[in-house]
Amino acid sequence: MHEWSVADSIIRALINWANENNVKEIEKVKVGIPSFTFLEVDILKEAFDTMKKGSVILDNATLEVKFKDPTFKCRNCDNVFTIDQVKDQLDKVRSEYGEEYPLHLIPSLASSFLTCPRCVSHDVVVQLDDITIDEIVVREGGTIKTVG
Ligand SMILES: [Zn+2]
Repeated sequence: MHEWSVADSIIRALINWANENNVKEIEKVKVGIPSFTFLEVDILKEAFDTMKKGSVILDNATLEVKFKDPTFKCRNCDNVFTIDQVKDQLDKVRSEYGEEYPLHLIPSLASSFLTCPRCVSHDVVVQLDDITIDEIVVREGGTIKTVG
């Protein structure tokens, strides 16, 4: 059911944006979704297609979904780092636990396995980014324009 409320927020955001920017028709929208939200893309698309009906702006719009990797934050020194910066540490965990390494399953375990690359503190939290609208493709007088 979470997918439906996400689709609803995306649709509301798009319609608000279109009204503010005088856009009459949206062709395509690309959204970024944190990989840890475990949303089902198929259900999200189905929800989007069902809920967009009746809205002229979104009638022909297609939804594209891209999963984003999380970032981490050190509570000791406020350092924000990406999954790439702790790749060595993750590889180590992965080699100890195999493919089903715990971080993959339970992101909140990050602090047990990861240390901050700057201060080596274990007080690390996973930052769950919000869902973002990364790109909107609009149709304007027959021409198609991408808004980044
Ligand atoms: Zn730190």
